[in-house]
Parts: sequence; structure tokens; C-alpha cells
Amino acid sequence: MPELSNIVESLAPSGIRRFFDIAATMKDIVSLGVGEPDFVTPWAFREAAIYSIERGQTQYTSNYGLLELRELISNHISSFYGVKYDFKNEILVTVGVSEGMDLAMRVLLNPGDEVILPLPCYVSYQPCVILAGGVVVGIETTAETHFVPTVEQLEAAVTPRTKAIMFGYPSNPTGGTLTREQAQDIVNFAIKHDLYIISDEIYDRLTYEGQHVCIPSLPGAKERTILLNGFSKAYAMTGWRLGYACAPEEILSAMVKIHAYTIMSLPIPTQRAAIQALTTGEPAVKDMVSHYNRRRRLIVAGLNEIGLECHLPNGAFYAFPSIKVTGLTSEEFAERLLFEEQVAVVPGTAFGSSGEGHVRCSYATSIDKIELAITRIDRFVKKNALIPPSLQPSKLNL
Ligand code: PLP
Repeated sequence: MPELSNIVESLAPSGIRRFFDIAATMKDIVSLGVGEPDFVTPWAFREAAIYSIERGQTQYTSNYGLLELRELISNHISSFYGVKYDFKNEILVTVGVSEGMDLAMRVLLNPGDEVILPLPCYVSYQPCVILAGGVVVGIETTAETHFVPTVEQLEAAVTPRTKAIMFGYPSNPTGGTLTREQAQDIVNFAIKHDLYIISDEIYDRLTYEGQHVCIPSLPGAKERTILLNGFSKAYAMTGWRLGYACAPEEILSAMVKIHAYTIMSLPIPTQRAAIQALTTGEPAVKDMVSHYNRRRRLIVAGLNEIGLECHLPNGAFYAFPSIKVTGLTSEEFAERLLFEEQVAVVPGTAFGSSGEGHVRCSYATSIDKIELAITRIDRFVKKNALIPPSLQPSKLNL
């Protein structure tokens, strides 16, 4: 048979999948691996979809999505962040943020154009750049700067081929958020070098302290930014595949061109569920966020007590402890923990090489499971004497 696409063949399979596949074959697993809410979509949203099917709403919609939904999205962004998008021309309903990031790359990039990505980052950013013919320029951020790139790092990464910078805060995998100043620094950098910004804000509502900084709300940002968001995380709607992209009309209409040829439109029942979510979903979101917040404190305290240093993440539902003290690589730690104690975590390197020395622990799971996972991780490090006595927490007075 003729060979497959060279670009596709060059892509490494997702490091997260490999762990899920192994975990799926094991019994008695406690999974801190999965990046999705453990809550079922609130009943009112599901009911809206069921009712829509009952009414026979089985047709295509506008390529952009239902007008009513786009208007609600526009009002939502305006009321939370004060950013105004024209719902007729600047908002597209997408198949999750996943489609949004693919469209963004495909409309912005010509072959060989460079995209700056602060690492570690969500597993799909790099493949989306590569699949669109672009070149990834990774910035290795570190725990010392809470995995936020410094202006010096940004300046060192820019070349005449740089077209865009893409990032997502609150961050998957680190849980880190941006301060207003840090966000403005990145925006100013983009303005200075005339770059597009792709801002994945899928975890915006999962910000625990302070206000989420919506990138296009910053001075000078909106006209060069593609804002991506969706319903998967805050509304517990991962399987519905529902997101949206907001951008200036010229960019958005280019995205719609691709979307119209490849997707056409999202199912009406799905869009009706989103309408319900934006109309009456706020108490459910607040309730889920308060659960995540409790779990966040529990897991971070537990990891630190074991001796695995972990900052309190301000967003998303991930803790990103350092496992450097054990002397194991992230892969070794995750693999041995899985086989010896049946706890699934994701090696930090699945999100880029600067994730080495860390593992991602999702706390989108019950308090009981988090407690059990902590007990098992503790047993794992003690049994294997992975933490030198001089670095054990009682000695450090943690
Ligand atoms: N962006 C980030 C940072 C994510 O963590 C995820 C899912 O884990 C996605 C995008 C994909 O979102 P969606 O379900 O809207 O496609």
C-alpha cells in the first residue's frame, strides 16, 4: 500500500493514552489520571437535549451554531469579563475546544510558520501546530516561575517566522494561573512582535482564588486573539463535544470556512443543552467548583505530607507535584506506582520535556478515592525508601 502522510507518521502517540490503556486492563485502580469531571452533566441540561430530540430537532443548524446559543455565549463573556463579541460574526460553536484549536492553527499558519508554546502544555497543542504545517517553538518553563514563561524566555524564542503564541491558563497540567501583570506581559510581547494569540480558557471557571484573567479583555489583545472555551469542564459536559471560538470577524469567518466543509454544524440537542447550561447552570457550576476546591486542598496537603513537594494550584483540577526527591524519572514513577500500587497518574513528560520531575494528579475524583490514592502513594514511596530520611516531611517541619 502507498505510505501514509509523513506528518501524521511523525506524530508521537499521546503519552496519556498509553497510561489509560495499561490502567484499563488492571483491577482495583485508583485513577488520578483522567482529565475530566467525575460529575454527570446536570439533569436540566440533559433534559433540554432530550426535549429537543422529542420535538424532532434533527436538522443541521447554521454553520456558526444556533443564534440563540451564540447570543448567550456573547452575553456570558461580556458579563464575566467585559469583552464584547458580535454574536452574529465573531462567535463559532465548535466540536469542543479541540476543534477550535485545530481551526485556529489551520487559519493562521502557512508551512514553516512558528508557534511559541510554553511547556509543559496540554497534549494537543503541539500536534495541532504540526498538523497545520507549523513549527513548534517550545519554551521550557519551570516550577520556580510557576510554569509561566518570563519575558526573557519569550524574547529568546521569537524569530522572523514566529506567527503566534498559544497557551492555556488555568493550565493543564500544572493548575497554574496568570496574574493580570503576567498576562499583560505576554500580550505586550505579542503586540511588540505582531503575533496572534490563541488563548485556551477552558478552565476559566475553575479558578479558586482571585479572578480569571480573560486574555482578550486586556488592552491591545482582542484584535489579535482567538479565544477558545467550551462546556466540557465547568459544566461537566466532556462527551457532548461542545465548545466555542471567538475572534475578530476576518479570522472567525476563515475558521467557519473550514468548519463548514469538515463539520457543518453541531447537533441541535447538544446546542440546546448548552443553552440550558448558560441559562440556568450557574448554581451547578458553583457547586462543582466548591467540590473541586475541597479536593484540591486535600490532595495537595496529602502529597506534601508524603514528602512530594506540591504547590497549591490555583486553577483547573490538577496537582503537579515534584517527584524529583525520589530519584525516579516521571515515567518510572508513574509506571511503578501503577504496577505496584494501582494508582494512575500521568508522567509530566507527557506534556513536554519540562514536565520531567513531575507527575499530574487529577483531583476530579471523589474525596474517598483521593484519600485512598494518597495512602497508596505513601506506601509506595515508603516501601521503596524513595524519600531520603533527611528530606522526609517530619524533618522538614512541613
Ligand atoms: N484544552 C485543555 C487545556 C484541556 O485540558 C482539554 C481537555 O482535557 C481540552 C482543551 C479539550 O477540550 P474539549 O473537550 O472542549 O475538546
